[in-house]
Formats: sequence, structure tokens, C-alpha cells
Amino acid sequence: MESILLRMKILDGKTASAFYKDDIKKRVAEQTTQGKRPPGLAAILVGNNGASETYVASKVKSCEAIGFHSLLIRLDKEVTEEALIKEIERLNVDDSIDGILVQLPLPEHIRSQQIIQAISPQKDVDGFHPESMGQLTLGTPTFIPATPLGILLLMNFYQIKTSGKQVVVIGRSNIVGRPISILLSQPGETGDATVTVCHSRSKNLTALCAAADILIAAIGKPGFVTADMVKPGAIVIDVGITRIPDPSKKSGFRISGDVDFSAIEPIAGQITPVPGGVGLMTIAALLENTFRAYMNNQL
Ligand code: NAD
Repeated sequence: MESILLRMKILDGKTASAFYKDDIKKRVAEQTTQGKRPPGLAAILVGNNGASETYVASKVKSCEAIGFHSLLIRLDKEVTEEALIKEIERLNVDDSIDGILVQLPLPEHIRSQQIIQAISPQKDVDGFHPESMGQLTLGTPTFIPATPLGILLLMNFYQIKTSGKQVVVIGRSNIVGRPISILLSQPGETGDATVTVCHSRSKNLTALCAAADILIAAIGKPGFVTADMVKPGAIVIDVGITRIPDPSKKSGFRISGDVDFSAIEPIAGQITPVPGGVGLMTIAALLENTFRAYMNNQL
């Protein structure tokens, strides 16, 4: 099994996420067969943004598949910041709920930071609360944001070692680029890398990326990473998810990553597909965080 995983060219999020979800399912069953309540995740969706609808639906579906209790709360796009905070406060004290997530982006009249801060740090399974971010930065993480945690789980599944590697992260957002760059540079088994964070003001981007042993793209620009930016044999992790209008598809769109997959797949050592890569791992990671919150609540 080990050597097969090491040789896999495609870092398949479907296989890896199924492995982790199955494992959580077993852990949930161990608890519920002892008569304990199942872990509970509440998702709040404001408005009806198409992509957000899809993400929340797949999170709820995954919860049900592994035996979690899930609660989807839909609020009108005109909801006030105050009413949204009240809803969060109600969930903060609901004993059947271990994790709370508010699907981003929120309508412009709502300040995301106020909303994130209203979530109890004990139920902050998205890991966006300043307390969670602070703990992560100090190297004592409580809840790691789901996408960076998903990347770590994927690398763990495929036994990718990071110690001493040159990692380049393109993107410095609080939800992906920043936390994954911090995690990979920290001491320990999932870190010890030399990390360069690139962003929209970076110069010599091609040369910086071409020196990377592991290249992580979290930009949101389809096909941004081209073959000249990838060192032969490098590991390429594509976080990007962009909907591109496509009348040939039933949905009317197709999903594109940040990496020019067809050009880079032949030269990369290993590469994640989009869809079917980091996106699926993000959901598995959210479920891991929720299970962790649940176990903390059992203490
Ligand atoms: P963001 O818009 O907050 O950040 C994008 C980053 O890209 C910025 O830090 C910016 O500096 C950088 N950037 C923009 N143009 C650049 C350029 N020309 N050169 C170098 N850097 C540049 O985005 P985000 O929230 O981090 O998301 C990034 C992508 O990842 C999006 O496509 C998003 O949909 C996707 N995403 C996927 C998952 C998942 O589960 N797979 C989760 C979250 C986000």
C-alpha cells in the first residue's frame, strides 16, 4: 500500500477524503453505540449564492453520510448583522451543536469579521475566529481552517514529506494561503518546510515558483500556473475553484482550478485535480474539526 501511494501521480481527493470520512464514521459509531448523542454541525447560509448553496449542500450531505446531526439554517439576504449574531448566539448555547459555520461570502452590509467573532471559539470548526488563528500561529492549533487542514490530510494520506522542502504558496488569504504557509513552516511532522508566500505584488513569480519542491496555488484565477512555473518532479497542489460558464454542461458551468492541469500533469511529480482534489479534502477536514469539537464537549 505504502509504495503504491508514493508512486501515485494524481493526488486523488476522492480516495483520500473517503478514507478520512470512513474513519470518522467509525469513531462516531463507537460513541453512539455507547448511547451518546452524535456530533452536531450547524451551517448558516445567508442569501442564495449558487456556489455557496452547492458547498453547504455537500457539507450537510457528508454530515448525514457519517452519522452527524446537521442543521441548515437559511437566512434571507437582507438579514441584519444583529439578527445573524443572535442566531449564532443561540447555536453557541445549543448542546446538540458542536460546530458552527457561516458560509462566506456574506452580503456586503454584513461585516464578516463581526460574525466570525460571534462564534464561540469552542465551536469554531472553520477555524476563522481570531482565537483559533492566534493559536494556529503560536503552534498550538485548536481548529485549523478546513482547506489548509484538508491539504495537510491529503499530504499525510499520500505520505508527502515536507521537512526541508522548498514550498511556494501563491495567495495570502486568511482562509488558505496565510494559514497553510504558517503551518508548513512550523516545526513538526507536517511542517519544517522553507516557505515562500507569493501574492499579487510579488516580483519574479515564475522564477520563485520554478524553484519549489511543493507549489500550492490559492489564487482564484483559472489556469494561472503555467508549465514554466513548475520544476519537473514538483508536487503541485491546486486550491483554486472558479466557475466558468459552459453551455455544454447541464449546470451551465464547469469548474476550473488555478493550474493549467493538462500542461503541468506530464512534468509534475504529483498533482491534485480540480474538481476531485482539495475541495473534497476541505469537507473531510471540516468533519474532522467537528468531531474534535464534539470530543472536547464530551470531556
Ligand atoms: P482570495 O481572493 O482571498 O485570495 C487570492 C490571493 O491570490 C490573494 O492573496 C492575492 O494576493 C493572490 N493573487 C491574486 N492575483 C495574483 C497574481 N497575479 N499573482 C500572485 N498572486 C495573486 O482567495 P481565497 O479565498 O484564498 O481563494 C483562492 C481560490 O481558492 C479561489 O478560487 C477559491 O474559490 C478557492 N478556494 C477553494 C477551496 C477548496 O475547498 N478547494 C476553499 C477556499 C477557497
